[in-house]
Amino acid sequence: MVYYNEKLETMPKEETARLQYQELKALLDRVYRNSAFYHGKMKEAGVSPDDIKSIEDIRKLPFMKKTDLRDNYPDKLVCVDREDLVRFHVSSGTTGKPTVVSYTKNDIEMWADAVARSLTACGLGKRDVIQVCYGYGLFTGGLGLHYGAEKLGAVVIPASTGNTERQIELIQDLKTTAVAGTPSYFIHLLDVAKKMGVDIRKDTNLRIAVLGAEPWTEEMRRYIHDISGVTAHNIFGTSELSGPMFCDCEEMHGTHIHSDIAYTEIIDPETGEPLPPGEKGELTITVLKKEAFPMIRYRLGDVSSILEGECPCGRTSPRIDRITGRVDDMLIIRGINVFPSAVEHALLKNPFLTSHFVIEVSRKGRLDDMLVRVELKPEAMTDSINGLMQMQAVVERTLRDALNVAARVELCPPNSLPRFEGKAKRVIDKRVI
Ligand code: AMP
Ligand code: ZN
Repeated sequence: MVYYNEKLETMPKEETARLQYQELKALLDRVYRNSAFYHGKMKEAGVSPDDIKSIEDIRKLPFMKKTDLRDNYPDKLVCVDREDLVRFHVSSGTTGKPTVVSYTKNDIEMWADAVARSLTACGLGKRDVIQVCYGYGLFTGGLGLHYGAEKLGAVVIPASTGNTERQIELIQDLKTTAVAGTPSYFIHLLDVAKKMGVDIRKDTNLRIAVLGAEPWTEEMRRYIHDISGVTAHNIFGTSELSGPMFCDCEEMHGTHIHSDIAYTEIIDPETGEPLPPGEKGELTITVLKKEAFPMIRYRLGDVSSILEGECPCGRTSPRIDRITGRVDDMLIIRGINVFPSAVEHALLKNPFLTSHFVIEVSRKGRLDDMLVRVELKPEAMTDSINGLMQMQAVVERTLRDALNVAARVELCPPNSLPRFEGKAKRVIDKRVI
């Protein structure tokens, strides 16, 4: 199976608009009928599916944000019968509550198709051996790449994260040709290979890396190529859209967003007005084909722009530039989203802590390191090293359970952390991407 459908990938503008409109209309009719959430939201905005007469009319529809997921936790946004669901994924939300996303069988198919098309665009195919070094589990990276690579007909190695020396042995022994993972983990993997005396160019068949889940730069792409000869592609997605699914092509001129699957807008985060290509704003995506968990005008919080002009590869889908920042305070730690409010929420589950805390993010080697400094209540202060270590272990466990990512914890004496007049500065991010 070749995951390149020329008609779909090179569809002229007018045809794309027609197809997108049909998909949107069908989606709106369905959610307006079946979902109290969408029905209520559209009523409140004074718009019904009949008001949408072209794809441009999408701007009449209200936006969705991560808070909609939190407020409807865990499953009030599900638009299909319970028996049609086949999977949940979960990631950290804006407060203590995680965000849950759900899928039907068709949703999983659509996602896997999108990934297979993206991998094809990076030059991968049936003959490749793809080692998936994203985490498998609640996070969408591992299973998303896995299903897409399998669809492509490639051999998949579900290596997951960690155990880097073993990963390098697998790359050598199983003749891995491509790795998928976070850019920081991939650079770490190259460092470890070097320490082990493994020359990626001579001792392995590795030629492509498909990297994403966190921001990275063109300089990192060049650095990876210089030290290893590996061509690194940028894959993008969020769990709300399904997971990682959109990627740059062999031309590497921005991330193609398959236009038969999704409608892309860049909006002014203040006014909500759509911005023209070339202008930076908040990335907003409507997935036209989702069943269980539709996302209509979903504001991702990521800052990007739609690139002007056409891609030399011939695909006519819009391309977005690299993500240059966030409009909110979400941190990405080793590919996992972390909201400072979720850290606060988790910390306060421990009765011996105050609400004074600071998150310090840095790089240890190539990997992100998160240190949470938090004040003890006066009555919890103790000289017992054992007592302190026990409390520290408890807090580390609460954070790991709540955030799906490990953090180091430093317990501080009462009144030792800075106090703020006005907005607290809770995060010190020392990383440079
Ligand atoms: P999640 O919902 O856990 O999959 O996280 C999605 C978020 O990760 C996005 O909204 C982005 O902020 C970030 N992200 C994912 N892929 C990339 C990428 N290729 N470049 C920059 N940020 C990314
Ligand atoms: Zn292209």
